[in-house]
Amino acid sequence: SLLDKFERYPLTFGPTPIEPLPRLSAALGGKVEIYAKRDDCNSGLAMGGNKLRKLEYIVPDAIACGADTLVSIGGVQSNHTRMVAATAAKIGMKCVVIQEKWVPHYDAVYDRVGNILMTRLMGADSRLIDAGFDIGIRQSWEDAIRSVEAMGGRPYPIPAGASVHKFGGLGYVGFAEEVARQEEELGFRFDYIIVCVVTGSTQAGMIVGFAHQGRAERVIGIDASGTLERTRAQVRRIVDDTAELVGLGRTVREDEIVINPDYAYPAYGVPSEETNEAIRLAARTEAMITDPVYEGKSMQGLIDLTRKGFFPDGSKVLYAHLGGVPAINGYSYYYKDG
Ligand code: PLP
Repeated sequence: SLLDKFERYPLTFGPTPIEPLPRLSAALGGKVEIYAKRDDCNSGLAMGGNKLRKLEYIVPDAIACGADTLVSIGGVQSNHTRMVAATAAKIGMKCVVIQEKWVPHYDAVYDRVGNILMTRLMGADSRLIDAGFDIGIRQSWEDAIRSVEAMGGRPYPIPAGASVHKFGGLGYVGFAEEVARQEEELGFRFDYIIVCVVTGSTQAGMIVGFAHQGRAERVIGIDASGTLERTRAQVRRIVDDTAELVGLGRTVREDEIVINPDYAYPAYGVPSEETNEAIRLAARTEAMITDPVYEGKSMQGLIDLTRKGFFPDGSKVLYAHLGGVPAINGYSYYYKDG
């Protein structure tokens, strides 16, 4: 394994299940076999999700640094800050999270339910800040780090999405290795992997892991950021840093980084009518719930690409379900009639 030399602090149950989705496949014409890898069910910590795979390789460093407070940043309904709060509670550290107003919203309870509710329950100091969507390094985050220091604490900074962090890409290198092991048991290989991309380290880790297996270009990122150039540049950077860190032994080519921008409209955190139709279809055929910010958009991409014939007949497509369902509680107005 490319990861043997790295320390991992277990936060997840272990390998996540791969589940066939026959009714969704049939609803899309039955020419493509769709499966889901359920990283949304990866842990008992506050409903789990993709960030825990990343944090498993970050926590050993936080402990080694002698930190006592995890500091991070996200939107009001951030899954990532929920996962950092969960990790802090589980390892006995304090937690400060900056939650910025990345998304326009209509639900009266948007800033009280779902992710932020759980984040508060787990004891994190959650600070709401007025600032728009941005995947980069923020002043408010640097202020939070300094405020912990000013109170005599020892902060450990974790950037948005745990992405631009030395070890942020490792968890999803592990995903690629896990898929290869599961394919041996299943007796077949997947032709494509569909994954939602915003801050970049999920897809970047997969790209490095699958590049080692010679099939990185089969990972189709579905952008949900609406800021494609920045996301692509961030994925490129994390791919290069992670490839170097694990000793991939070569540079990943540009054509091995595939990001489709077609489903991020109208904006980050705002579902289109087509996103909501995709969420309903997955729910009604497979009882698989996806959220309006992330997985609903990658589900929309999976559905549209299948209908358009992007995947050759007979293809086996693996949809990476990265979690994020709690946020849907902040979007109840869209689904009053189902
Ligand atoms: N899906 C969910 C549920 C998420 O919380 C995130 C986080 O941003 C993503 C997908 C995108 O992953 P990444 O930020 O690593 O690109």
